[in-house]
Amino acid sequence: LQELREELMLADSLTRIENTLMILSGKGGVGKSTVAVNLAAALAASDRQVGLLDIDIHGPSIPTLLKLEGASVQGQSQRGMSPIQYNNNLKVMSVEFVLKDQAHEAVIWRGPMKHRLIKQFIAEVDWGNLDFLIVDAPPGTGDEPLSICQMAPPRSRAIIVTTPQKLALQDVKKSIRFCRAVEMPIFGIVENMSGFVCSNCGTEHELFKSGGGERLARETGFKFLGRIPLDPRLVTASDEGKPFVLEYPTSAAAKAFDRMIEPILA
Ligand code: ADP
Repeated sequence: LQELREELMLADSLTRIENTLMILSGKGGVGKSTVAVNLAAALAASDRQVGLLDIDIHGPSIPTLLKLEGASVQGQSQRGMSPIQYNNNLKVMSVEFVLKDQAHEAVIWRGPMKHRLIKQFIAEVDWGNLDFLIVDAPPGTGDEPLSICQMAPPRSRAIIVTTPQKLALQDVKKSIRFCRAVEMPIFGIVENMSGFVCSNCGTEHELFKSGGGERLARETGFKFLGRIPLDPRLVTASDEGKPFVLEYPTSAAAKAFDRMIEPILA
């Protein structure tokens, strides 16, 4: 009976979500969580109701990126847990808010346990009606993104984040294979840390060979969602727990996000 109840709650939650965007990357450190946070903030600033769900059980970074460390989910609603209301249009949920004292580090998470927890994050969190659920998955192609795919959230699409280095692009191919295997449509590819705009002279420099994400998108037929330059202010904003797009709305990186959300809103 309990299982049936859970399935009904899940089905009900899924009817309240219009679109699901899962942010994926082949490896860590490419800026996947940064993209998830800023994409969520940019969509929320465009007056959409957005939920940001962090399912990185072993290394949740959304709480730090939004300065929500130490927050815990409050107010048990009828539905279960209330997510953290970051601003009028943005709600946030992370494993960090339910597993205290880094307990998740010590626990050996088996696939079915992860699946159960992730399912609860959709079924038993009072998200309300969402235009977009943005899911920040851990890097790679493990149990967590698989769990999301198995729940078949409405209009779910993957966004793959990469950096210009060759290895990162090879990793993208793994993410593409994963999406194909689980039948998750790929919305597009983002090339992060692509070029560097010098704050002194204003010229753009290439630190790594850029344009690889664009080429890969062309080769594979997926949409190229844009290049986000390296910007040291992005690191400071992240460290301060502020979404970059809200702090520096006129920067090249913020404009890249504005362009990225156009096809998403179309
Ligand atoms: P991932 O989620 O892929 O592990 P993060 O989003 O945590 O990566 O980013 C890793 C680090 O790189 C963070 O310190 C972040 O602030 C920084 N970073 C990400 N994108 C950029 C960028 N475009 N310019 C400068 N720093 C960036």
